[in-house]
Amino acid sequence: MISFEPTEDQRLIQETVGELAKTTLAPRAREFEAAREVADDVQQVIGEMGLALAAVPEAHGGQELGLLTAVLINEGLSRGDSATPFGLHGFGPYVWAAQELASSDQLTDLLTPLAAGKPGGAVAWSEVKARKDRAAFVTTASKSGDGYTLSGSKCFVGGVAAADRFIVFADVEGEATDAPWSGSGAFVVKRDAPGLKLGKRHETLGLACADFGRLELDGVDVNEADRLRGGDDFVAATLRFFARYSLTVAARQVGLCKSSFDITRDYCDIREAFGKPIGHFQAVAFTLADRHMDAESAGELCRRAAWAWDARKPFETCLAYTAQAVAHAHEAAMRCGDDAVQLHGGAGFMRDVIVEKMMRDAKQTALVGMTAEQMDQVAALVACRAKLTPELVLPTPDAQAILT
Ligand SMILES: Cc1cc2nc3c(=O)[nH]c(=O)nc-3n(C[C@H](O)[C@H](O)[C@H](O)COP(=O)(O)OP(=O)(O)OC[C@H]3O[C@@H](n4cnc5c(N)ncnc54)[C@H](O)[C@@H]3O)c2cc1C
Repeated sequence: MISFEPTEDQRLIQETVGELAKTTLAPRAREFEAAREVADDVQQVIGEMGLALAAVPEAHGGQELGLLTAVLINEGLSRGDSATPFGLHGFGPYVWAAQELASSDQLTDLLTPLAAGKPGGAVAWSEVKARKDRAAFVTTASKSGDGYTLSGSKCFVGGVAAADRFIVFADVEGEATDAPWSGSGAFVVKRDAPGLKLGKRHETLGLACADFGRLELDGVDVNEADRLRGGDDFVAATLRFFARYSLTVAARQVGLCKSSFDITRDYCDIREAFGKPIGHFQAVAFTLADRHMDAESAGELCRRAAWAWDARKPFETCLAYTAQAVAHAHEAAMRCGDDAVQLHGGAGFMRDVIVEKMMRDAKQTALVGMTAEQMDQVAALVACRAKLTPELVLPTPDAQAILT
């Protein structure tokens, strides 16, 4: 039976995170935006609370509280400021990629720095160049001696500036077959590896407190032990990584929906037109009701999907619930951000009011990991009982050829 009643641990975490969001993240959101980073004191507090590793097994330095707890944490933080989690150490895709792709020994090595309060790593999936012949990476891993040599250009890498190592996806020489993604591999590259260079930071529409940058690999040598094999099925493990991480991002959209709704409803109570609060006009009230439904339904879909993963339901069930939750949360957040600006009138367009930031952040958040359309594609395949081929489901890394 599904029950979303929080456990005692989850309730305590929700209370603590809620208080932090209200007293620290919301009031300081503009400060982090202007500084283009989350302040060290906040990084430290959240690091000490161990929130980034809440879902990680205790054996690897985590709290083993499950994906649902991670979803509640991401939603709670985002009620203060949905951009902040993107700038927090350990809240990017790295922890989720490591859990799905690394062996037990590798995982301990990958997560130990984070558990000790250090920044952790980043994931380099997206690429600057396009590949037309098959679903694969342009970045190559050529066999050399006992290991591999990596070469290529990556982009959009979140948390690149502080990362102490990178999980780099590449096409492995000689391993491709006719199967989609068949030659793909993932490798751990240390930040100080010869041949690795950090490129320029991307200027972004929103999420200004988080950094996204380029990564150049020019003949970077790694050992066989640095290859992450993802157990028996690398492609399925990669898909699990994307799905689970995307769900935590969707939870941030839920936080954004709820906070933008609260702020907008309060404004509609105090702003008067023709002698009554604007919220008393049906056109406004119906919009508010719709956005409230968006926020509530997106939250419940995210909880159901996280519950399915934690309850170890069949992979297709978890994926279908996740697809519905992520696609809906992205669209809900776009509507909530847009209407928050709209119902604030001209004030909503000005930087003096936080809702303009929410609208920009919602857009960018909708493009992290798997997008609404990609998740719609998954949901449609499941609904139509079609085969879930990874080629149709995993985000192709190679579409950034528009970048120079
Ligand atoms: C804020 C942010 C953080 C990011 N962090 C990282 C990171 O840390 N590391 C990293 O490597 N990358 C990162 N990315 C890149 C991100 O993973 C991709 O942008 C995302 O997967 C979408 O892929 P794309 O940009 O290639 O879009 P495209 O694939 O070019 O998509 C273009 C359009 O086509 C749609 N589309 C694409 N494929 C399908 C499909 N199969 N079915 C239906 N519709 C489809 C998309 O939804 C979109 O509307 C980040 C991006 C953003 C915006």
